[in-house]
Amino acid sequence: MEEPKKESLNFIKQIIEKDLEDGKHASIQTRFPPEPNGYLHIGHAKAICLNFGLAEKYNGKCNLRFDDTNPEKEKTEYVDSIKKDITWLGFDWEGDARYSSDYFDELYTMAVKLIEKSAAYIDDLPAEEFNALRGTPNEPGKPSPYRSRSIEENLDLFKRMKAGEFENGERVLRAKIDLSSPNMHMRDPIIYRIKHATHHRTGDTWCIYPTYDFAHGQSDSIEKVTHSLCTLEFEVHRPLYSWLIKELGIYPSEQTEFARLNLEYTIVSKRKLRELVEGNHVTGWDDPRMPTLSGIRRRGYTSEAIRNFADIIGVVKRNSMTDVALLEHSVREDLNKKANRVFGILDPIKLIITNWPEEKEEMMMAKNNPEDGSAGTREMPFTRELYIDRGDFKEDPPSPKKWYRLGPDREVRLKFGYIIKCTGFKKGDDGVIEEIYAEYDPDTRSGQDTSGKKVKGTLGWVSVTYAIGAEVRMYDRLFTTANMNTVDDDFKNHLNPDSLKINSKVVLEPSLKKAKVGDSFQFERIGYFRVDEDSTEDHLTFNRTVTLRDNWAKK
Ligand code: ATP
Ligand code: MG
Repeated sequence: MEEPKKESLNFIKQIIEKDLEDGKHASIQTRFPPEPNGYLHIGHAKAICLNFGLAEKYNGKCNLRFDDTNPEKEKTEYVDSIKKDITWLGFDWEGDARYSSDYFDELYTMAVKLIEKSAAYIDDLPAEEFNALRGTPNEPGKPSPYRSRSIEENLDLFKRMKAGEFENGERVLRAKIDLSSPNMHMRDPIIYRIKHATHHRTGDTWCIYPTYDFAHGQSDSIEKVTHSLCTLEFEVHRPLYSWLIKELGIYPSEQTEFARLNLEYTIVSKRKLRELVEGNHVTGWDDPRMPTLSGIRRRGYTSEAIRNFADIIGVVKRNSMTDVALLEHSVREDLNKKANRVFGILDPIKLIITNWPEEKEEMMMAKNNPEDGSAGTREMPFTRELYIDRGDFKEDPPSPKKWYRLGPDREVRLKFGYIIKCTGFKKGDDGVIEEIYAEYDPDTRSGQDTSGKKVKGTLGWVSVTYAIGAEVRMYDRLFTTANMNTVDDDFKNHLNPDSLKINSKVVLEPSLKKAKVGDSFQFERIGYFRVDEDSTEDHLTFNRTVTLRDNWAKK
């Protein structure tokens, strides 16, 4: 889990450094090319950090380009969210955002050029026959009867397709490549299809649209992308992109593939995530359980943590599964530096200090963040009745020598307060403990301790008089299966029914009255929590960002 001390160059940096050294390129141009058909997820963050990170490192440029060739699935809402997420991660694209749809005219001209070279033809075969003739990877395809159409007829039909004379699916434009290629993408792939659909940017100007494969590579060429980086599934598309570059005589962007991020217990596919949103399995794209950037932001993950995570996982050529613990580790590391500590009690039980006078109040001085000297201190009122966590008391600890917290006749320090000794407790008729009694030692005030006493346990506490109530949304993994790539039934069967538990009995120290939406805190010894957008002044609502390992007990 350690970050490498000195930077070793990954294979993409090696390629870039060589290209710059050899003078192949004076500077580099990369791009991040999302399709605006959903919200970005943690996998995209890897591609963003890679493309923008390389441009930063090598003083190059990185474009943001929306590959928007599927009008039915794309929306301006998605464009806006994608821009917001990239900005949140701390990156800035070169100039204005670009769109493949900006190039629809140019792409149309390129298609015409292919037809004129007899390198593309209009096919009228219905889908079923079309697929039957394409063959299988082991069996070569057979030519469509329309493959030998004349250039003139093809040009005429393509024009009429554009003019809207035909129905959806009635005809397609195919590149004329190689029907016997073992690579199915080379068997005369479709490059234009008829879609009478309104596009989020070009409206009803077009009723034919280029396929992703026809738009993506050429858009890279139009933008003079030097290093076109994409995930491994596109390796088999590369021969097609190279073929198009050659046939069209356009700028030769060079594609290099890297392994996508696969994260345990997580789905990284916009399409499936959209299914969760539309089926109301989550509350929205920004549900804090979602692996979307808007979801993890709302949960309390920081952009620095995501960028560090991307650095740690690096880029490799082989697909693998990344442990979610690695991501959580990055989040903890970052929040440990930034989040102020406060006392929050998730499962409160009353502790009554019987030798403390009813009306007496003392202000205790609490450090906000031991990791950050500039974070200052705050005051915490100490009163006769306090809340502590039920889990910090055991009537009969199973291994008494290892139990450093509270129990009958045991002593602990109330952090920033006094050392107390448990003198008894009260049980209700149901056998559940209702109250705990203790006496404090006046010589042990934190910072002014003259007792010489040493205790091993330190507990968090909140004054009953001043406590504020809150709701905490406790999240667990969204799925119960580690490798969601290999499930062959409906992925929704693997949803964790306990991925959200709401705890409404939480009590917090009074300083949290001032907490604002978006603030993150460490509830001491418990974890990191962020104030949610649903929070109001009367009803504080927190998301549990990530738990914390208990490392106080033995200090
Ligand atoms: P999804 O299936 O989630 O929609 P996609 O690849 O179809 O993913 P795009 O919008 O086309 O989504 O992706 C934009 C860029 O992000 C592409 O270059 C793609 O390779 C990259 N990308 C997508 N998913 C991952 C991932 N899990 N890890 C790394 N890069 C990814
Ligand atoms: Mg895609």
